[in-house]
Amino acid sequence: MGAQSKGTDESVRTDQTEVGQIEIAPGVQLAQIGLGVFQVPPDEAQRVVEDALELGYRHIDTAAAYVNETGVGAAIKASGLAREEVFVTSKLRNGDQGYDSTSRAYADTCGRLGLDRLDLYLIHWPYPSAGLFVDSWRALEKLAADGSVRSVGVSNFLPEHLDAIAAASELRPAVNQVELHPTFQQTPVLAATRAAGAAVEAYSPLGQGADLDSAPVLAAARVHEATPAQVVLAWHLQQGHIVIPKTARRERMVENLAAASLRLSEGELADISGLDSEARIGGDPATFALTQIR
Ligand code: NDP
Repeated sequence: MGAQSKGTDESVRTDQTEVGQIEIAPGVQLAQIGLGVFQVPPDEAQRVVEDALELGYRHIDTAAAYVNETGVGAAIKASGLAREEVFVTSKLRNGDQGYDSTSRAYADTCGRLGLDRLDLYLIHWPYPSAGLFVDSWRALEKLAADGSVRSVGVSNFLPEHLDAIAAASELRPAVNQVELHPTFQQTPVLAATRAAGAAVEAYSPLGQGADLDSAPVLAAARVHEATPAQVVLAWHLQQGHIVIPKTARRERMVENLAAASLRLSEGELADISGLDSEARIGGDPATFALTQIR
């Protein structure tokens, strides 16, 4: 059966048996497909996350800067799921970097989400011009050591930022969440991430939709009776990436989750990898310095 044929609301698969799990820290398993909620407006976040949890998602990726943690938390509560069934990631805003302010920001995030602790907390950007990411990492190390958070990691870290925290701390980051899709593969960053002992987590895994109409993606979609989004997600999953595609639509939530059952051939994977073209969509971590959003 093609993956697309499972991508309908009528044939919803609510169990997680086909979604791989990756151990990102000792005893901490993370489902390879989660739902990202960047650009989901605050007043829609509860509905979107309630839908996702009902449809089988058990991994939600938010951030203080998305201004929708309250809605995410309300959805988790309304779902009736046991706390340990839902994996929740959030991120430290640039403007909150620094040792003391990181601990305060973490407490505020937990408060908005209505959770005692998170499963994963990330430094959202290295924000190197502020010179505070190593101090922020030390604060995360303390939160992890005292059990206030299950695991900690980083996002948008370039090799030099990974080196800087490795030099200052014994704790390895559980993940490095970076922009990653067929037209932007960041091979050196992925190599440094794995060398640092961190799992690769792909943000904007669909290239925000821009990578879906390329010839090798469309060809594989035809062969497997799958959708282009499922092909791109399968390309990630077969390389061991964690993916957090964002959608606000129920039918796409189901479609994206069903990508777990699609297997591409080595040739198809190679053809899609051939699309790499340095087509960055988001900010450049070497210079990104916004403190109000993201
Ligand atoms: P994605 O690559 O996930 O693309 C999202 C876009 O694709 C939306 O416009 C969505 O539209 C559309 N889409 C989703 N599913 C499908 C489908 N099956 N078919 C066609 N179109 C589809 O980009 P994002 O930038 O949103 O990244 C995903 C997540 O990554 C974010 O939500 C966030 O959690 C995280 N992220 C982290 C960043 C960081 O700095 N750490 C930066 C950016 C993102 P629609 O909603 O209408 O379905």
